[in-house]
Amino acid sequence: MASAQIDYAEFYRRSIDDRDAFWGEQARLIDWHTPPARICDYDQPPFARWFAGGTTNLCHNAVDRHVAQRGEQAALIAISTETGSEKTYSYAELQREVQRMAAVLQSLGVGQGDRVLIYMPMIAEAAFAMLACARIGAIHSVVFGGFASSSLASRIQDAAPKVIVSADAGSRGGKVVAYKPLLDEAIALSPHQPGAVLLVDRGLAEAPMTAGRDHDWAALRAQHLDARVPCTWVDATHPSYILYTSGTTGKPKGVQRDTGGYAVALAASMRHIFQASAGDTYFCTSDIGWVVGHSYIIYGPLLAGMATVMYEGLPIRPDAGIWWSIVEKYRVTHMFSAPTAVRVLKKHDPEYLRKYDISSLRALWLAGEPLDEPTATWISDALRIPIIDNYWQTETGWPILTLCNGVQPQLSRFGSPGKAVYGYDVKLIDEASGAELTGPNQKGVLAIEGPLPPGCLQTVWGDDERFVNTYWKSIPGRLIYSTFDWGIRDADGYYFILGRTDDVINVAGHRLGTREIEECIAGHVAIAEVAVVGIADTLKGQVALAFAVPRDAGAVVEDAARLRLEGEVMKQVDAQLGAVARPARVLFVSVLPKTRSGKVLRRALQAVAERRDPGDLTTMEDPAALQQIKELVG
Ligand code: AMP
Repeated sequence: MASAQIDYAEFYRRSIDDRDAFWGEQARLIDWHTPPARICDYDQPPFARWFAGGTTNLCHNAVDRHVAQRGEQAALIAISTETGSEKTYSYAELQREVQRMAAVLQSLGVGQGDRVLIYMPMIAEAAFAMLACARIGAIHSVVFGGFASSSLASRIQDAAPKVIVSADAGSRGGKVVAYKPLLDEAIALSPHQPGAVLLVDRGLAEAPMTAGRDHDWAALRAQHLDARVPCTWVDATHPSYILYTSGTTGKPKGVQRDTGGYAVALAASMRHIFQASAGDTYFCTSDIGWVVGHSYIIYGPLLAGMATVMYEGLPIRPDAGIWWSIVEKYRVTHMFSAPTAVRVLKKHDPEYLRKYDISSLRALWLAGEPLDEPTATWISDALRIPIIDNYWQTETGWPILTLCNGVQPQLSRFGSPGKAVYGYDVKLIDEASGAELTGPNQKGVLAIEGPLPPGCLQTVWGDDERFVNTYWKSIPGRLIYSTFDWGIRDADGYYFILGRTDDVINVAGHRLGTREIEECIAGHVAIAEVAVVGIADTLKGQVALAFAVPRDAGAVVEDAARLRLEGEVMKQVDAQLGAVARPARVLFVSVLPKTRSGKVLRRALQAVAERRDPGDLTTMEDPAALQQIKELVG
């Protein structure tokens, strides 16, 4: 087991060269009902079966095992500045609530291996639902509350949940967003029908109930107040959850995570990356709809016996001091956020940070998108604590690159998320030849040699072939996992991320597939063709920009008509995908720049929109197409 002052290079090397011994030791960080028979079964690459033969339970490890020692200690601190509510659940109380939820789910027919879709705002009941699923061996699929009906429908169809847990509404910036009508519409759109809907009524919005299908949480909870639901011991390789993420096609991929590997990976990360101990308090500002929320709002901190803060609200409401007032009040020790949120705070007076006693805070971790220098410097000057960048993906579930200061404190290097994290055999690969780039400062595709470490995706839900073809076959002649990010490594092993190799964009730390947005816009009756690209944005990192060819050119001649159509297209994206995917602008053009083979030149479009040189255009069919775009973007 690691203690401070071990040489990190040695620690890392052992994790790769003596994999089973290394992870066998880490596995002791969690409780097992049956210890694993094998540490890593990699008999069928690229499918890794971590801790095969072992049985365990994620909820036992996150909740029950702490109750005897720290039953009265805070486990979950649920704060909403949207509704003005604030409630702390001790480990003992959390255990009781989770058992009530587990009993209710069982009463609705949920058993081991069944899927439960969770479409919820950031309220404590969402955490109860996730943990309750883990408790009874059901597989949860949390869908971000900001997604609208058609995104939700495709996830309902793919995961085929037995039960959907939802709420009447979420709230953002004081504006109530009714969830139930979106959910009803999504269920109507989906060929798969859930057996039941369990609804948490917050009293925020009308929530018409469908008789026989919809159930009220408060009423069912009252019937199960004294429920005792034992943890179901499941195989280490039993799926714990599905989390959908965007890719280059319109169909979202269900990242499937195991149980034992995930528990071990997170427990180890709490120690070696976050230097966290039981009794510390973790405040991760993400949302349970994203992977960061799964790993570092819910499971990671609870596995470590910490208190975790679940926050519903904006970082600037009632004012830009709200986060720091939470840090002061709850003596938060660890904070995790995204650069985009810091950029939002940066527009406000730094005095807000000085108003509160934040001396309990030891470090701030940022992830999800590149950390730019002005943002890093501003927050570092304001907080005067280490700001630690970390790079990972929905697929991996925990950091690939960062500084493992819990193993050996290391200096950060500006613009770099850090070094390869133990367990990840990170390589830079030449995209064309598949050769490994071993020298310093060479640009290549950031790839990971199999097996992926514990905690990473097992497969794509219901589609092993897609898992292999998407992630493991993109580099010629090699079975190696591609992150689809460009990177370089300096002579000291620090990596630098240089952007995506595919059509995925990153808006405010959230991954969006441009194809998904294009498919939605192309569905509008007035649109003939569309291309969506991501362009640099000072606040959100990137924003989506749509170039649309109207069916009737005359329809966009008048300013008012053009604005109306732009508004309609945006509304369609809001309604089908959710406001997160809404393009910043929809610009109407008469033709899209294409190659002679008919492929839209997205890179050229993006370059022109960012006022850069579009580069080599010899394959372009109609060079005049870009001229119109240059004029439009100014
Ligand atoms: P997601 O799966 O939505 O978390 O998106 C993962 C993608 O976000 C990665 O493949 C990167 O393109 C980007 N990303 C995440 N963290 C970082 C980081 N620290 N620096 C640069 N890019 C990042």
